[in-house]
Amino acid sequence: MDRRLLAMAALVAVFSISLVAYGARHMATGSEASASLAVSSSDDGGASGQAQIPPPTMTMLADGVYHYFGFFTGSLVVISDDGVLVTDPSNPMRAQSLKDEIAKVTDAPVTTIALTHEHFDHVGGTGVFPEATVICHRNCVATFALSSLGDVPTVDRTFDDMMEVEVGGKAVQLHYLGPGDGAATTIVYMPQEQIVVTSDMYEPRALTHKNWVDDKHYVGTRRILNEISTWPITHAINAHSPGTDPVDLMENVGYYNDLYDAVKAEVDAAIAAAGGAPFGAYSLFDTLPQTLELPQYSDWANYDTSFPRHVERMLLSIYHGD
Ligand SMILES: [Zn+2]
Repeated sequence: MDRRLLAMAALVAVFSISLVAYGARHMATGSEASASLAVSSSDDGGASGQAQIPPPTMTMLADGVYHYFGFFTGSLVVISDDGVLVTDPSNPMRAQSLKDEIAKVTDAPVTTIALTHEHFDHVGGTGVFPEATVICHRNCVATFALSSLGDVPTVDRTFDDMMEVEVGGKAVQLHYLGPGDGAATTIVYMPQEQIVVTSDMYEPRALTHKNWVDDKHYVGTRRILNEISTWPITHAINAHSPGTDPVDLMENVGYYNDLYDAVKAEVDAAIAAAGGAPFGAYSLFDTLPQTLELPQYSDWANYDTSFPRHVERMLLSIYHGD
């Protein structure tokens, strides 16, 4: 193997191992799926071993509508004879896998990419679809301008509150309901098919891992989840788990409401104890993450490692406004 190939193989190995670690953090349960993409480096003395990424899946949710799940991330795929809409290509390797899976069900090219939010693990790889128009909420643009990593897309169309895209007679709505996971959180909804795509706001019976709470507005996330829970929903695609059961969404509405209620009660009590002075709640940052518990969620993944950070994040969101 020449030096460039060796360097490339090492990069792919590191990328794949990182993805597996990333997936392990994001997914509530470990996948037992066999590997379709296995990378081994024989040049590292076997130190890294073999990284395995579960094979991608394409699940039909409605006529012409699929859930692609690969590289620990989900995408909505809406097919028509004239073109295909996808959400979140994520990165070039995953985008190619997404393209390959789409080619198994249609010859039509991907013509529309709708990004669910601005976070970099969702927005890369758009170049794999050169015919596509990239749509993102207008708040994406300012964030992308700050990127020092490079693989951020050129946004072709933006919207403020709502945009509706038609794909082969099917309506695909993009809703901005305020900040949630990021400042450009977009809820994708197909009203006829009753399919909703959220961004990174929840996972089935799992708390968002502590490494990923800082970029999430907790009061905003609670508000968005409550609002979309009133919509007719048959399938709810969340960003990083393969399931689409709306029950997962409803359980997380309960979690965010319970967390909000518990933290808000402590803030109100602390301010009241200080005679109404807002600074009365300031000391809660030092105490509440260690003392508050929601034992009804203690069997959810990441509760032990990450619940104190959720308390802290909700406290900041209630008390400081972000
Ligand atoms: Zn995100």
